[in-house]
Amino acid sequence: MKITDFLVMDSNGNNVQADAHGNIIAFACCTCSHPVLAIAQVNQRGSDEAHPSACKGCGQNHFLDVRNHASKLYIHQL
Ligand SMILES: [Zn+2]
Repeated sequence: MKITDFLVMDSNGNNVQADAHGNIIAFACCTCSHPVLAIAQVNQRGSDEAHPSACKGCGQNHFLDVRNHASKLYIHQL
């Protein structure tokens, strides 16, 4: 799933600093701002609640919630 140029928001609808290319996205951890990488592809890190991406800075788990038709995605914390 391509998510390049999607609008990226946190669970509260606030903009998140991010850089997406293809199905890969780098964003600032919602807790400590450390860079986090996630992949919008089934079974890859951060793709859903069962495959979260852990922040290397603080250990916070994140996962993507992609709204393809609206060209936006949410980053949720577990
Ligand atoms: Zn963090």
